[in-house]
Amino acid sequence: MNRRYRKTVIAGNWKMNKTAPEAREFVEKLRPAAAKAKWCETVLCVPFTDIQTCVKAAKSARIFIGAQNVHEAKSGAFTGEISAEMLDVLGAKYVIIGHSERRQYFSETDDTINAKVRAALGAGMHPILCVGESRVQRDLSVQEDFVRMQVKSDLSGLTPSEVRKVVIAYEPIWAIGTGQTASADDAQEICRMIRETIRKMHGARCARAVSILYGGSMNEKNASELLSKPDIDGGLIGGASLDVKKFSAIIDAANQ
Ligand code: PEP
Repeated sequence: MNRRYRKTVIAGNWKMNKTAPEAREFVEKLRPAAAKAKWCETVLCVPFTDIQTCVKAAKSARIFIGAQNVHEAKSGAFTGEISAEMLDVLGAKYVIIGHSERRQYFSETDDTINAKVRAALGAGMHPILCVGESRVQRDLSVQEDFVRMQVKSDLSGLTPSEVRKVVIAYEPIWAIGTGQTASADDAQEICRMIRETIRKMHGARCARAVSILYGGSMNEKNASELLSKPDIDGGLIGGASLDVKKFSAIIDAANQ
């Protein structure tokens, strides 16, 4: 982490979990940990159906609510989809874009992801852009080239001031939901490379302002070591974000 130039972010990704009453109870229990976290922004990316409840429950707490997906169009005939303006009006400040589950199960491409990032920024939201290699790519040692290509495509056409508003989450696919975390050194190496890619695209001032998170089986036991690395500015957390005690412990670790 480097708090001098960029914010530390601990973001939960609930995926398709928790009903609105469960979400309200969770947010109430999370308040003490978030209130103590002066150095870190606490974010919960919840199902669309929980956003309004969570925004209300998080009122006057240091907890920001986010969504897990957005459609790239402003409005129109896209049955079942949600626009960035709709999320913004509900009070969502963040939106996860390009999660590997969306890329894999819903065939999202880098072109669509780039369009979604632009749509979120256009509505004044902070995209949490997910990138990361598969097991096969890691075994072939092409992870750096692959992730670099994702970062370049997904941020293509943005201005430096827009890129500063994007949070990037490096999530090796093989580490998501598997209990198999990347080593802190390996995660640092890719996060450093992502920052270097942004430096080449937009200059050093932009690169040092962008928060880069690690995601992939981060938990209350491994968080401190991962967060001690200079280019890892927080975490995107799936499984452990469903348990208020574990998620609070990760927030505490980020606030040290
Ligand atoms: C995720 O889905 O973004 C994630 C990191 O999940 P987990 O923490 O469960 O690996």
